[in-house]
Amino acid sequence: MSTVAEPETGATWATTAPPATATVPAVTLTATTTEVGAGSAPAVPATAYRRATAVPLPTVRTVAGYRRAVEAARRSGATLGVVPTMGALHAGHRSLIERAAADCDVVVVTIFVNPTQFGEAADLASYPRTPITDLEVAARSGASFAFVPAVTEMYPDGLCTVPLPAATTALGRRLEGRSRPGHFDGVATVVPRLLAPAGRCRAYFGEKDFQQLALVRLVVGELGLPVDVVGCDTVRDPDGLALSSRNVRLSARERQAALVLSHALAAGARSLSSGAVDASAVEAAMAGVVAGEPSVELDYAVLVRADTLEAVDRLDSTSLPLRLLVAATVGGVRLIDNLDPRRPLPDELSGPDPGRS
Ligand code: AMP
Repeated sequence: MSTVAEPETGATWATTAPPATATVPAVTLTATTTEVGAGSAPAVPATAYRRATAVPLPTVRTVAGYRRAVEAARRSGATLGVVPTMGALHAGHRSLIERAAADCDVVVVTIFVNPTQFGEAADLASYPRTPITDLEVAARSGASFAFVPAVTEMYPDGLCTVPLPAATTALGRRLEGRSRPGHFDGVATVVPRLLAPAGRCRAYFGEKDFQQLALVRLVVGELGLPVDVVGCDTVRDPDGLALSSRNVRLSARERQAALVLSHALAAGARSLSSGAVDASAVEAAMAGVVAGEPSVELDYAVLVRADTLEAVDRLDSTSLPLRLLVAATVGGVRLIDNLDPRRPLPDELSGPDPGRS
């Protein structure tokens, strides 16, 4: 066990390697001190966190405090895992934190709803926020501390995005980027700001946001950050719906309709494994499933190269990794999902083909 202290606030915590089948937090918290944002108003007062969290999690709100906490951890010889999130934590996020806790001595969960990656103000305003529960969930999943900055801490010069190298720009303009202009400029701006203070670390991202994961790998490489990006499997509800913070905005009827996204991916994978030779046949199989649910508005259903997300035509000549991706709007809520068509279907998607019933 090693003890880590955040010098400015005096918050200390002890880390232990989690047992393989950990049902208890991998981190034993030994102090409840919470750093109050230096010079920037926290969205939720730090006292609220202290009062409301059953399992308190040390929280730093400044980049300087984050850097010092990381340096203190490193001095004690600890390895570091970072899990960037926008909060409203669910089992998908938990799986990332648990994976990080299994791999690393100290795990920081960052919670920041990044304004520059939202196109519409209404979408940003309605994004679910559960800051108090988040700290409890993060602690129980094995986080050592949280970095919860205010917007002014991440954007001290005002909201802006940084110019991106050509490859990042190209990737960021496809698919999600085409439908959400500027979205990936925001992601590519904020992710280095969340990762760079950590120095050498592993950073955990979900395959659920597959294009984001590809973009983060590019950005980390282009900036030469000493970060090992780890992609983690998508966590689904038992009926196949990929978990998303946005799912809470779906009515019961809309949630049921949203199942066509994962059903479409399964149909695409089946089409490929049964010998489709061009992408358009696979994509037609996916689109056909979505069309069966009139309340769902399809944006795209595509089969692409997994690394660049570029279109592939003939499939019989390629051994490249491929990916099926789908995006649609259900009751005003934009949902995305994706699948590796050459891996066995996840259990939740491997039932009878719903498109044939
Ligand atoms: P978000 O809070 O939506 O920005 O997501 C934070 C991280 O959690 C990202 O790396 C997401 O890809 C990941 N994530 C979100 N949903 C899931 C899920 N259902 N399964 C696995 N990872 C997820």
